[in-house]
Amino acid sequence: MKFHSTRDESDTTTVSEAIRRGLAPDGGLYVPENLPDLGIDAFDGLESNDEIARRMLEPFFEGDVLSDALGEICRDTYGFSVPIREVGPTTRVLELFHGPTAAFKDVGAAFLASSLERLEAEVDDLLTILVATSGDTGAAVAAAFDDRAGCEVVVLFPQGRVSERQEKLLTCWSENITSFAVDGDFDDCQKMVKDAFADRWWRENRRLSSANSINVGRLLPQMTYYATTSLRLWRETGRKPDFVIPTGNAGNSLGCLYAREMGLPIGQVVLATNANRPITNYLETGQWKPFETRKTLATAMDVGDPSNFERITHRWPTADSLRQQLTAYRVDDDAIRDTIRRGPDAWDEVWDPHTACGIAVREKLDSELAVVVATAHPAKFPDVVEPLVEREVPIPEQMAQMMARPKSVTEIESTLDAMTRALRR
Ligand SMILES: *Cc1c(COP(=O)(O)O)cnc(C)c1O
Repeated sequence: MKFHSTRDESDTTTVSEAIRRGLAPDGGLYVPENLPDLGIDAFDGLESNDEIARRMLEPFFEGDVLSDALGEICRDTYGFSVPIREVGPTTRVLELFHGPTAAFKDVGAAFLASSLERLEAEVDDLLTILVATSGDTGAAVAAAFDDRAGCEVVVLFPQGRVSERQEKLLTCWSENITSFAVDGDFDDCQKMVKDAFADRWWRENRRLSSANSINVGRLLPQMTYYATTSLRLWRETGRKPDFVIPTGNAGNSLGCLYAREMGLPIGQVVLATNANRPITNYLETGQWKPFETRKTLATAMDVGDPSNFERITHRWPTADSLRQQLTAYRVDDDAIRDTIRRGPDAWDEVWDPHTACGIAVREKLDSELAVVVATAHPAKFPDVVEPLVEREVPIPEQMAQMMARPKSVTEIESTLDAMTRALRR
């Protein structure tokens, strides 16, 4: 199958080239030329995440250099469990946080890393992957590329603006990962990445790629856990489950919408955002406009201008057509706190601030079978969670191992020049 840019459908490429480039040359995002309707029967006899993922992604890799490796890439992606837990008679929680950095981004990052390692095995020059991060993305990408051949990762994070545990997960990796604590904010880090892509020295001396959430190599695997979960519940109950998805850049939600287009038994798709308003405002007013980003307790969802919106409007160009696909609700910080505080009594669970947005929306939703997507483990955000539930949240085993590793980080000023000098040293 071919992929093309959201801005120019005549400029087509293969899936592996789209993964390698990250962004299309015209600045648009890559999307598949179509979403084949596989239906439910196509998955008969398949149960595990990696088998279902392979079946679902086969059409996109048909004829591609990675097609023979797809099964292995899917096994590599699901190197950790993805339990579906029953937390009430009509509510399940899909726990996507059992990967190395305890957030759902581990799934997409593992698929991307596994794909790029295979593509880069044929190339002599190292590929440099630049990631600006406010916390979670950089950690997931670093963990996924840790010790993989052919790729080096440069992580830029704002010094003093990530939690202690997040900083540890950004700086505890092997030699092919370089972490910079930038004297600036997240926007400064992002600007340094953009400047590097536009800079002559960088273009002449490094092959660059980006691993942020707009890469299709992260989007495609994010469809697959919706397939597994909906099939399992459909087989068990004969119902199409509704999904409630904590949303920021909307990559995770888009995975669910794409999965439903491919014929999987998915009911309503419900987005839970924090107090940031671009998506709910669009559905309410029909006017798309970015907002200044607001800081909330669910920091990984603090997005004023969701990057995947360009893919969403490419497929559903009007507000009316999108309203038929999904609903979205905002959850403010008070409601996040309240949901976390009530978690142990109401659900016998400790929620992280992102998952709490999903739970708060589920509590208001009329649904006979709802799956709330749990995007992070509560132990990642002890400063918010522990005072509210008045107990300590134990660190999961995988994360504890990372915490025990030595830290390696260089502090730099927020200029491209400072980054270039530090890397040449
Ligand atoms: C990134 C992230 C989100 C938001 O996901 P999008 O795909 O950007 O909508 C939600 N929760 C957590 C914990 C995250 O790290």
